[in-house]
Amino acid sequence: MQSPSVFVDVILPLQVQNNFTYSVPAEMEKNVRPGMRVLVQFGKSKFYSALIRRIHQNPPIHPPKGIEEVLDEKPLLDEIHFLFWEWISYYYMCTIGEVMSAALPAGLKMSSETKILLSPRFLEENPNPEKLTDQEFLICDALKKRKTLDVKEAAIILSLKNPQNLLRQMLRSNIINFQEEVRDKYGAKKVTMIKLNEEFEKEEKLNKLLPELEKKSFPQLEIVLHFIREQKDSKNKWLSRNSILKNFKAHALEALIQKNVLTKEIWGFSIAENELKIEPPYSLQGFQSKALADIKEKFTENDVCLLHGITGSGKTEIYCHLIAETLNAGKQVLYLVPEIALTTQLLGRLKKHFGPSLSVFHSRFSGRERLETWQSLNKPEGGESKARVILGARSAVLLPFRNLGLIVVDEEHDSSYKQHDPAPRYHARDAAIYMASLHNAKVVLGTATPCIESYFNATNGKYGLVNLNERFQSVSLPEIKIIDLRNPEEAIGSANCGISASLKIAVEESLKRKEQVILFQNRRGFAPYTECSRCSFVPQCIQCDVSLIYHKTNGKLTCHYCGYSILPLKNCPACGNIHLLHKGLGTQKIEEELSLLIPEAKVKRLDSDAVRGKYAFSQIIESFDAGETDILVGTQMVTKGLDFDQVGLVGVVQADAIIRQPDFRSAERAFQIITQVAGRAGRKNVKGLALIQTSQPENKIFDWVCRNDYSGMYEAVLNERREFGYPPFLRLIHILVISMQYELLQEGATFLAEKIKLRFGNLVLGPAFPHIPRVRGEYRKQILLKIPREFSAQKIRFELLAIFEEFRAEKIYVRVKLKIDVDPN
Ligand code: ADP
Ligand code: ZN
Repeated sequence: MQSPSVFVDVILPLQVQNNFTYSVPAEMEKNVRPGMRVLVQFGKSKFYSALIRRIHQNPPIHPPKGIEEVLDEKPLLDEIHFLFWEWISYYYMCTIGEVMSAALPAGLKMSSETKILLSPRFLEENPNPEKLTDQEFLICDALKKRKTLDVKEAAIILSLKNPQNLLRQMLRSNIINFQEEVRDKYGAKKVTMIKLNEEFEKEEKLNKLLPELEKKSFPQLEIVLHFIREQKDSKNKWLSRNSILKNFKAHALEALIQKNVLTKEIWGFSIAENELKIEPPYSLQGFQSKALADIKEKFTENDVCLLHGITGSGKTEIYCHLIAETLNAGKQVLYLVPEIALTTQLLGRLKKHFGPSLSVFHSRFSGRERLETWQSLNKPEGGESKARVILGARSAVLLPFRNLGLIVVDEEHDSSYKQHDPAPRYHARDAAIYMASLHNAKVVLGTATPCIESYFNATNGKYGLVNLNERFQSVSLPEIKIIDLRNPEEAIGSANCGISASLKIAVEESLKRKEQVILFQNRRGFAPYTECSRCSFVPQCIQCDVSLIYHKTNGKLTCHYCGYSILPLKNCPACGNIHLLHKGLGTQKIEEELSLLIPEAKVKRLDSDAVRGKYAFSQIIESFDAGETDILVGTQMVTKGLDFDQVGLVGVVQADAIIRQPDFRSAERAFQIITQVAGRAGRKNVKGLALIQTSQPENKIFDWVCRNDYSGMYEAVLNERREFGYPPFLRLIHILVISMQYELLQEGATFLAEKIKLRFGNLVLGPAFPHIPRVRGEYRKQILLKIPREFSAQKIRFELLAIFEEFRAEKIYVRVKLKIDVDPN
């Protein structure tokens, strides 16, 4: 046999540092191109789909294994996507395999460990076995008995070495699914939309088609006439498949689609028939048009522009104009939001303007849905890729855009843009800016409360800066007042639910005026902790160094870090006392006490416990929007981008908890949170009021918040950061050392810190125990590197990676994990 002459370097979806080389059997040489997946064996018996990064003719020293199979007919990724992945891996100090794992939808990542199961559709329709091939039947039969199989087991059942091809075929025919798929929790349903193929809008084509159908198929004729009528009467081109099937026959419809008389498209959201009329974005008010023009002007010099606009100034409307222009230029748009769960309202606004060009993307979507979005960005062979808007949270930045023109990062200050676990620990805003530079695309960062680093970049000329200081229709900003909780008269309200006398009166007055109220408390659960009234014992999680939180709905004490939960204690394990007190205030408790305090009010709660159910989130929002709820009690969820017309009053129940966070961002965060939540008050028809309860009213934060003085806050925080050495003046790299064994952790952390100090000297802080030293039974210690801006980022990374490599090579530390977090926040 001839020795192979073509080799591929592939990326494996694993935590391995390098690419691996495989040889390409002669008969596959013609089929490989960079960006395609190939099936390879790695280790003794494991198979993975790997991505071809490079093709070359340099045989490695050790003769490599051959690839088993080429999985794609055309590349999934282009050079530009690899460059982006490599930047993430470099900048955030993780492996390229980790980036690949995060970026590829499950459906493209099949490995020998992937679990397969029957698809819901298969289970529902339970098709006649005769419709299946023998092999498909064997798999389905096994799955009916055992629910899941992994690929290896499937291989045994089928007596095939590589069942991958067959399984992919079954996935495509919607017989099976991969287990990683989690159903979409927030209920973005898909609908199949159908329209008349544009060709048949021409009279002469139609004049030929209609008589033809009249002769051959009356049901088909009826459907075509229905489309023509709808288009004339209500200007609706698109009709949903379901609505057509109410009156017409499915086989006739399918036949028309087959014949290309009708075109079918899957839309990434459900849509009511009456919402189908696509309207251009609203016309802007004068100050908004000016901001839009300013942004475009800035774009001639800077690729990134910060839009600093107060809440309710119409930033979203301005994005819509930029998006429409980008789509018209035939380019794609990425619209990033901090949390997709919170976009119910935004989605409604966007689909009105962008209809079928809009897709929603979320990591919690099923593999199939993520796959569809991937494919929608792919260009058809030789053709142009489609102009699209993708609305998504953090992970949407990893999608393979092909013709990107614009990225909108809405609420750019929001900390949910940073990925914590697992690696890659990227910041979606910063990654978006890098990606845009690869595509020559523009970025707008929008917010009422910019992140200090972004504002720093904007005032330094690195980004353009555009301000919006008015609200739409000149609605005024809410008045913000501070309530001093130390004042004994305030305690009269209800000490129990933390509502002061003034806040109680304000709530009652709002309700009398038929205005709605939002109460914000950044703690879910009922009571943050339980305490013994005699010895002050507080029950703790057995795996984490935190107190357990009492949840009234299930009657349990629960750990918010690992989910560990126990029934409430009858008596104190330390002293036997039977008087245990629930202390502190969670959203559940406020909700409950409020119903006692103001019995006539209809109260609902919005926090991550309340939105567990499938449509719970939209239900809570819709009921509030419709005015069926008077008071909404919630955590951070109520602060993010919601837009209600009738909210007169916002109350911040415990501002102290917000300003007391032990980290260098606490002042910035507190300003952001309070300003954002206050901004929910007084939009459109109502002049708003925000009441902030605190026992430290003298704190500077309140002064800035009340005067809406972003620059005051910015200057003060910036000075502090300069003095104490924090971003934007220094770069931070945070290293978490983790082990189940306490002693080992101590030794390992010290050993590693010494090594880093040898090179970086007094730029290294630690090792020290973090705020919570133990989580899920693992002990943690942290090391912080503060790196001056003028240091070469590349050299530092190179040296650090070498140190980590040395550390990992030490046999005694195999049980010690490292987590590297670049730009922690
Ligand atoms: P922001 O994103 O700055 O908080 P929004 O874009 O949500 O502000 O605008 C606040 C409200 O005002 C929204 O309900 C929006 O639809 C409305 N609005 C803003 N500008 C316009 C406009 N030019 N025409 C119509 N409605 C507008
Ligand atoms: Zn725990």
